[in-house]
Amino acid sequence: MTSDFEAQLRAVSLRVTRPRLAVLAALRDHPHVDTDTMIALVRADLPTVSHQAVYDVLRALTDAGLIRRIQPAGATARYESRVADNHHHVVCRSCGAIADVDCAVGHSPCLTASNDHGFVVDEAEVVYWGTCPDCATERSPQWSASSEGNK
Ligand SMILES: [Zn+2]
Ligand SMILES: [Zn+2]
Ligand SMILES: [Zn+2]
Repeated sequence: MTSDFEAQLRAVSLRVTRPRLAVLAALRDHPHVDTDTMIALVRADLPTVSHQAVYDVLRALTDAGLIRRIQPAGATARYESRVADNHHHVVCRSCGAIADVDCAVGHSPCLTASNDHGFVVDEAEVVYWGTCPDCATERSPQWSASSEGNK
């Protein structure tokens, strides 16, 4: 496993360091974590790593394309190691839970804009907003009553 991560780092000419390996391992097991969670996960393995070191690793890996930074409106930035497939996310308005939504397996139809205005498009940012199953279960009893009260 670790050697996979080493190979990934070498493939983009990044030096193999323990914090970089720890971040990649954490993202494999915990997709869509925010920076604070990432720091806690890395420190569980490497207690002496500083916040700044984790920030630096996240930036280096994002710049190299090994990880992807996503930031749904109004939410803190999250990171994931599933990159380059232009998949989208469904986000719960209530608790912030995030799940992956495939663009289309093997394709990225959203990248073919109906009119690209001459731009070279490399990412289509699509966020589906809604209520996750847990929150929907919690809320359903008062759903009809509360929906009337909103502006
Ligand atoms: Zn939720
Ligand atoms: Zn994702
Ligand atoms: Zn799509």
